[in-house]
Amino acid sequence: MNAPADAVAPGLPPLEGLPVLVYSLGIEGRDLARWLIARGARVTISDTRTDAALAEAGASVPEGVERVVTGQPLLDPAGFGLLAVSQSILRYDPALARARELGIPITSQMRLFLQLCPGRTIGITGSSGKSTTTALVGAIAREAGAEFVLGGNIGEPLLARLNEIRPTTDVILEISHTQLQYTDRSPHIAAVTNVTPNHLDQFSWDEYVGLKRNHIAHQGRADVAVLNHDNPVTRTFMASVRGRLVATSIETALAADGACVEDGEIVIRRGSRVTPVVAVSEIRLRGRHNLANAVMACAIAAEAGWPVTAMARAIRTFAGVPHRLEPVGRAGGALWVNDSIATSPERTVAGLRAFTEPVVLLLGGRDKHLPLDTLQDAVRERCRAVVCFGESGPLFHEAVAGLVDVAILVDSLESAVEAASGLVRPGDIVLLSPAGTSFDRFPNFEARGARFRELVRALPGFTEEVSP
Ligand code: ADP
Repeated sequence: MNAPADAVAPGLPPLEGLPVLVYSLGIEGRDLARWLIARGARVTISDTRTDAALAEAGASVPEGVERVVTGQPLLDPAGFGLLAVSQSILRYDPALARARELGIPITSQMRLFLQLCPGRTIGITGSSGKSTTTALVGAIAREAGAEFVLGGNIGEPLLARLNEIRPTTDVILEISHTQLQYTDRSPHIAAVTNVTPNHLDQFSWDEYVGLKRNHIAHQGRADVAVLNHDNPVTRTFMASVRGRLVATSIETALAADGACVEDGEIVIRRGSRVTPVVAVSEIRLRGRHNLANAVMACAIAAEAGWPVTAMARAIRTFAGVPHRLEPVGRAGGALWVNDSIATSPERTVAGLRAFTEPVVLLLGGRDKHLPLDTLQDAVRERCRAVVCFGESGPLFHEAVAGLVDVAILVDSLESAVEAASGLVRPGDIVLLSPAGTSFDRFPNFEARGARFRELVRALPGFTEEVSP
């Protein structure tokens, strides 16, 4: 049984009067601080960012925090009774090693949330497709008339929402690999969309796969793991499933329970019963990867007990999540598409494969030291021109020069949009799918995508028309 929302979580010392150190003044740190203060803890917050950077990020100090230390290395945890960390703090950080050495318990927002949530949890992780699948599952829940809450890795105060969650509430969570560093519970329905090389600047491949495996590792016999059969890594997870195993595929008609594609339709299979959900041609989202996301959302919804009619209605109307292959409008006869979320080469490849039209690709941002060979293949196949910009512009330029007719290097996103507008031909797709993070210039990928939209909307002859 889950503990009631106001109980102290497993493994935590009594909080009344306890000196607690919180790492980060970001959204998770503030959420943790408020939750701890409400339970009588004496909270100190340490954040390495300067006050100016914190002000720019919109961080304010929650009421009741005793001390805030900024602009210097993370405060030494000695003397504190508990360390509560944001997912941005990596578990091998020396400050955490020190806390372990001193025997100080460590917790995090998602750890606490999964320990304390009184409702059924539906958690979605994966290297890509998390947000889209989570949003689709939410859309199906809405169509099904379910009582649900949607949240997770989208920067929000999750612990603050515990009070509104009842045992009958379904809690749909997007969960990132960094949140999985600290969790010791798995969601009741836990889905992994795929595991592919990503974040190798933070973790070794084995560590990264281990974090994703942690998503299902704490399940019990009554729980459900929903795993993508088409991905070699998630397929290997199947052997370790403790509860019910549900598989998804867009490549093969599965014989096992789950969801797949048969004769141009998404179908749910349960034992020998096969139920059609919706025709693949009715999915509004573009790209095979989005077909995979829709299939996974159906498999999850079926396990949640929501009707097939709700799945079909949601899939027919769901137009996607902002910054993910988001059509902005037309200029110069081309469709301009914002895929600012694509912060790794693998995501850019998925983005490129969503189009059959010739693509003018905008690549740039901060490099994550990931292999570029598949991206190079996709560029050769799909692109008419590539415009490289930002910190990693020169690196990308060197990687694609010679693969396409036109490869241009410019300094900024502004110059990249200007260069692209000089290159486009009617029928082209201009795709901002940068393969690098935004941190060279922007606080996050949303700000980069918003700037791109603004620049595109200012182009001569711009119209909102997005249909093919
Ligand atoms: P996440 O939340 O995991 O970052 P999103 O749903 O926001 O994933 O999608 C981000 C980008 O990742 C998309 O624009 C697309 O390029 C790529 N992508 C999405 N889903 C998949 C998938 N199932 N397989 C491969 N790539 C995908």
